[in-house]
Amino acid sequence: MKIIENRKDLLEEVKILKVKGNSIGFVPTMGALHDGHLSLIHYANKDNDITVVSIFVNPTQFNDQNDYAKYPRITEDDTEKLKKVKCDILFTPSEKEMYPAEDKREFDFGKLDKVMEGAHRPGHFRGVALIVSKLFEIVNPDKAYFGEKDFQQVAIIRHFTKRLKFNIEIISCPIIRESDGLAMSSRNMLLSQEQRANVSLISNTLFDAREKAKSMTVQETKDWVIRIINENPFLDVEYFEIVDDTSLDPINNWNQKAGKVGCIAVHVGTIRLIDNIRFYS
Ligand code: AMP
Repeated sequence: MKIIENRKDLLEEVKILKVKGNSIGFVPTMGALHDGHLSLIHYANKDNDITVVSIFVNPTQFNDQNDYAKYPRITEDDTEKLKKVKCDILFTPSEKEMYPAEDKREFDFGKLDKVMEGAHRPGHFRGVALIVSKLFEIVNPDKAYFGEKDFQQVAIIRHFTKRLKFNIEIISCPIIRESDGLAMSSRNMLLSQEQRANVSLISNTLFDAREKAKSMTVQETKDWVIRIINENPFLDVEYFEIVDDTSLDPINNWNQKAGKVGCIAVHVGTIRLIDNIRFYS
């Protein structure tokens, strides 16, 4: 595995690999790698000759400076994990390398950033689009892999990839969960033992909601999920929305034809977790 810290070196390396006819799969991350990240690398390996992984805790996507400060940074452990899977190139740029000067670019996401994460984390998706487009410009992959755990993020990335005419296929990959159902997340390692014992209620309530949906309206199902989770003293629901999986417009009726996804954000003390589930009714 080659470890590259500077964008020029990566640009050159990728150019040479492409001239030789290699296809490139790209997995952008913020590190503190877990099996969710490793699953994306696995998909990239299956589809491409070369897999490039980046680790960069991107300051512009954090609307909460406290969240940014305490975000786990364990690049040495991550490097060891990556050596055990097939990762050909690890890109670990510094902040100065990615933002040598203030980048004032703005993006138009249509309606997609007006709801859920976009509504509750002002500027978050602009920061995501900024870093992902900078990385796309350097790596210029054939395919890029993102987790459905960040459901709205995938919709936004698909949107701006098309709009900015990047010739990159966006592949979304299923959520990987702990054995008790909790969606894997780098932020899970920040939970206290007591919090950790309580957070599986989030995913378990989403799983149960699928059953409830058979006899409840959309609104009743939403209210039920929020009530059950909020009854736990460790958990505080920020939002739970059931949306069209493409437009992210709210679903009002189970008979609507669109794919339906229930997306949730929950505060656990100072930590904020997200998850989602598909409804098939
Ligand atoms: P992050 O390091 O949190 O920015 O995540 C990097 C990539 O891994 C994003 O595309 C995430 O959606 C994806 N990811 C994070 N957690 C999971 C998970 N539990 N299952 C699948 N993909 C995930």
